[in-house]
Amino acid sequence: MEQNYDRIKSIIAHLLPLEISNTNASVDAAPAITAEKPRAQIPKWNKDELRDYLESNPSYKQVKQNLQNFLKDPIFAPKYNMNCEQWREVTLQRSIKVINSGLISLAEFNRDPMKYLLSMELLNLSDPSLSVKLGVHFSLFGNAVLNLGTEKHHLKYIKDIDTWKLPGCFGMTELGHGSNVQGVETTATYDKDTQEFIINTPSDSAQKFWIGNAALHGQACAVFAQLYIGGVHYGVHVFVVPIRNADGSTATNVRIMDNGYKLGLQGVDNGRLWFDNKRIPRDNLLNKFGDVMPDGSYVTSIPSKNKRFGSMVAPLVGGRVLIASSALNAAKLSLIIAIRYAYARRQFGSKGNEIPIIQYLTHQRRLFPLIAATVALNFPVLQLKQIYCEPNKTPQNVKDVHIWASGLKAVVSWHKTHTLQQVRECCGGQGFSAFNQIATLKSDLEIDMTYEGDNHVLLQQVAKNLLVELQKGRYTVTLPNHGVKIQNSDFQIQCFKWRESHLVQTLSSKIMSALDVGVGLEHSWNDNLDVITALGKAYIERITLEYFQAAIKKASANLQPVLELCRNLYFSSRVENDLGFFLCNDGLTHETGLKIQESVNKLCGDMLPVALDIVNSFDIPEQFVHAPIAKPDYIQEFRYGLERNY
Ligand SMILES: Cc1cc2nc3c(=O)[nH]c(=O)nc-3n(C[C@H](O)[C@H](O)[C@H](O)COP(=O)(O)OP(=O)(O)OC[C@H]3O[C@@H](n4cnc5c(N)ncnc54)[C@H](O)[C@@H]3O)c2cc1C
Repeated sequence: MEQNYDRIKSIIAHLLPLEISNTNASVDAAPAITAEKPRAQIPKWNKDELRDYLESNPSYKQVKQNLQNFLKDPIFAPKYNMNCEQWREVTLQRSIKVINSGLISLAEFNRDPMKYLLSMELLNLSDPSLSVKLGVHFSLFGNAVLNLGTEKHHLKYIKDIDTWKLPGCFGMTELGHGSNVQGVETTATYDKDTQEFIINTPSDSAQKFWIGNAALHGQACAVFAQLYIGGVHYGVHVFVVPIRNADGSTATNVRIMDNGYKLGLQGVDNGRLWFDNKRIPRDNLLNKFGDVMPDGSYVTSIPSKNKRFGSMVAPLVGGRVLIASSALNAAKLSLIIAIRYAYARRQFGSKGNEIPIIQYLTHQRRLFPLIAATVALNFPVLQLKQIYCEPNKTPQNVKDVHIWASGLKAVVSWHKTHTLQQVRECCGGQGFSAFNQIATLKSDLEIDMTYEGDNHVLLQQVAKNLLVELQKGRYTVTLPNHGVKIQNSDFQIQCFKWRESHLVQTLSSKIMSALDVGVGLEHSWNDNLDVITALGKAYIERITLEYFQAAIKKASANLQPVLELCRNLYFSSRVENDLGFFLCNDGLTHETGLKIQESVNKLCGDMLPVALDIVNSFDIPEQFVHAPIAKPDYIQEFRYGLERNY
């Protein structure tokens, strides 16, 4: 006992730092903490080739390059030290600059949605406030005019939207109703004598809340309101309502307040709106799915209120696609910063021979599975963008876009937030500084989980669809074959398929049993929201693995080893995260579970020599990496006298 105690004491003494200093010796010369372990050798690959592979869309290279060049204008240079008023003014000036360039427009959104998406992604990398302000104007207000309106609206509004003559807002959310859009209280009552709609806010809970561009700049708003004609209710419809005059003064019968200072996105002027029996012409109803004739008769090709509402919100799915792809970019950018810093930053070890922090297993464990997941998610997100931009969508495509966009928006935005938190901590105090970008990405993109559909609510839509698939007999529970290696891609996919099938069948039988004993559907749905959420995530992880594996098969022999390393680490770390489920439900044997768990450390070791090359192959243009800690010599970036005036 005494002997053991002495040994531990001497080991601890050995581990204590001799002296701490900041050195910046080259990483190659760094001492390893532990003896060299046998590692899988990942052959070198061409970084441009991997970048192109992750980016896909080669035909849009020039489009992106043009916008990147444009974003080098000094007006887009990073700026952080501003109050709310200054943020909003800078964002407005940047927005006008983009609009005047003609590089982004509603007409383009209609003609070539992929070009629009890729352009908005770049704006998001440059400044999230800018992309959100313009996103509200184009993707929400403009998109509503385009896809919920008809030719008369296109002729009247598109040009003014494209020139910012008519800055727009999107008025869906109210103080009393957010996720439950069909519950909005604002009313639109038809007056056949004057052929006008009367838009009214009947109570304070019906005030429009969080409306982007409403506090300062918006002149028109696409307002979601309950339509009434002659006392009959026709459900939610969307109306173009003027809220300001061209000189910036508030329109008559409208009241506006500011949502004020927020956690992030200070450049976006979110506001609150009340309508006091505001009269608008009959033509202001966006009438693609339901119309009101001058005599007050209602015309629609979709008689069910619920289905009509579904058709109205379906075209707005683009916002979710954009959140998924932009969130993935934010994860990539933050990993570039954290990994570069982790290879350069040294702490502990002997003087002049300190250890790069990436050598610590904890650091590898915190960052490498996130690299793997980011690479894995790249492929279903690419696929989502492709099917979303498909010009002649089949009904199946439309359904897929809805389900994929809902699920991927939720899973990727959570992945991004988790990544930003890990990256923030992995960079120590440097992660807290605005100019190292992580803090601002964290605050600006925090709302991704909530707007365009709250993540938990979206996963319920995914699960509902999977229950329908179950009824169609699309699921069979087949246990993974434990005889094969855990790196076998078929085994990995089988594990994820098994989990999804198990969850969907469990959900179905739990709901059926509850219904059998007289529990209402709403109650039994609520009683199973944990399974529902797990099912939504399991579905996305399964399609992620499948699309990743399909992409690996198509990749060149040069790229396959590094992609396979990412796939193996993605698989092992996801299973490790959910090991309780796999073991409790006999999806994996104890022995296989242990093997998978142990493989995470081994795969992290395999990634150590190549992680820097992987993040340096990410498709994030270098011009958006401003963080001094991501530069080749971060100590130099902090030399005395070098001011950072932003
Ligand atoms: C910065 C910002 C910008 C925005 N811009 C706009 C805009 O331009 N236009 C616009 O119309 N709106 C906008 N919004 C509003 C946004 O879309 C809503 O905040 C969002 O839809 C969620 O609604 P809510 O805030 O009322 O939350 P709630 O719906 O009240 O949700 C609160 C919590 O309850 C949970 N919850 C709710 N329902 C369920 C359920 N059925 N099952 C399980 N859990 C549930 C949610 O998961 C969430 O955690 C913006 C919001 C912000 C913060």
